[in-house]
Amino acid sequence: MRYYPAFMNLSGRTVLLVGGGEPAARKLRLLLKAGARATVVAPCINAEISELAEAGPKTGPKTGPKSARVTLSHRRFRPADLEGQALVIGATGLPAVDAEVSRAAEAVGLAVNIVDRPELSTFITPAIVDRDPVVIGISTGGAAPVLARRIRATLEALLPSRLGRLASFAESFRSAVAGLVPDGRSRRAFWGAFFDGPIARSVLSGDERGARESMLSLVNRRGAKEAPEGSVAIVGAGPGDPDLLTLRALALLQSADVVVYDRLIGPEILDRARRDAERIHVGKAKGDHAASQDEINELLLEHARGGKRVVRLKGGDPFIFGRGGEEVEHLRRHGIAVELVPGITAATASAASAGIPLTHRGLAQAVTLVTGHGAEGEPDIDWAALAGGNHTLAIYMGLSNAGRVAERLIAGGRAPGTPVAVVSRATLPDQRIETGRLGDLEYLVRERAIEGPALILIGEVVALADAAALVEALPLQAAAG
Ligand code: SAH
Repeated sequence: MRYYPAFMNLSGRTVLLVGGGEPAARKLRLLLKAGARATVVAPCINAEISELAEAGPKTGPKTGPKSARVTLSHRRFRPADLEGQALVIGATGLPAVDAEVSRAAEAVGLAVNIVDRPELSTFITPAIVDRDPVVIGISTGGAAPVLARRIRATLEALLPSRLGRLASFAESFRSAVAGLVPDGRSRRAFWGAFFDGPIARSVLSGDERGARESMLSLVNRRGAKEAPEGSVAIVGAGPGDPDLLTLRALALLQSADVVVYDRLIGPEILDRARRDAERIHVGKAKGDHAASQDEINELLLEHARGGKRVVRLKGGDPFIFGRGGEEVEHLRRHGIAVELVPGITAATASAASAGIPLTHRGLAQAVTLVTGHGAEGEPDIDWAALAGGNHTLAIYMGLSNAGRVAERLIAGGRAPGTPVAVVSRATLPDQRIETGRLGDLEYLVRERAIEGPALILIGEVVALADAAALVEALPLQAAAG
């Protein structure tokens, strides 16, 4: 991380703003919103800044008499201006002045920001989404400001406009709720239910009066009740890229007390979980079971019974070679509420990564998701029945038996020249895609030293593999060489 993220309390403190044009005006507006005072120094100060100085802000905390909040000095910057300031912002756009302000501030150890000049700044300012009191700061550490703006636009579109009202509404009930629900965990559950529930929706839709009435009765009811019941959500985490989590998976991760996950779940995805959620690894590596299925079932049950909101995170989709069904059955048998959230499975993720349509007019009218690995090594599968043409096979857990599977398909009538692709670690930064022919599948897997998790795609559609995706999938050095 290049910069330490923080929000500053500038209420009632003074900030030196060097510059009198539009960039300075933009900074001044924000400073005033945050309740700061400002000293603006520039030989030439534009009308907007003068107006702000005269009028004072329309919003933001009022601190002292309006006229005292902005002081204008119509002259050049002098190092003595730094005295008594909490921060310095240089917004003249003139390289010589920028450098002078930066040097002078550094000399007295004052935090300084020069607009668009990170190399002269000790702090930078993020792109923001402002739903006061909710403020989201976005920074790419200077790497890609346009990307930061994109992210801001996405969040602007995603977040309800009355989000700030909702935060203030919740704040107005904070101490009442704390008094009635003193236990921290129950209180978190209370607020969790609140933000997901109808009262929050009323606030967001503008009916704050109705929301307030409902809230009062909810608070009274809840105060008399003991700890809430636990629950388990069995959630598909997709193939690995956190952007391929569903919105619901994300929402559940962010309100989880406990996250139980296995080997296929990478740190990028766990990072999306609530920061203080307990994370329990029950890694199921092939042949090396960190926890047995029975132990996992018990673990889920135990935490749910303890009143926790448990998220059971599984790679891909929980109901495709994920043993999700067994967990659901066990929990329901013991009366625990279970929610199921589908995920993007490895077959569709790999197909998209390689630009291979799983079905295609004239080439494949069916697709079969099949495991290449059974409980005793080779699965009890009638490969001959799957050997017909116009049919795509997506083989999960197929690396170790790849040769045998290919042999059986060929014996069953599939042409040895049928195109195949092996996609390993699909959607992750080190994803690899190898293509070849069915007759050479074993050789392909061995020779190219492909490591799991990998998905094998077999069928005529593989010939449509997107050449661009294949080139992108090459290791960087090979592509450059
Ligand atoms: N429930 C998962 C499958 C779990 S079985 C899903 O729906 O995707 C584990 C197998 O899934 C692996 O052996 C591999 O064949 C496949 N797999 C999982 N993640 C993958 C990935 N990122 N890339 C390629 N294959 C993957």
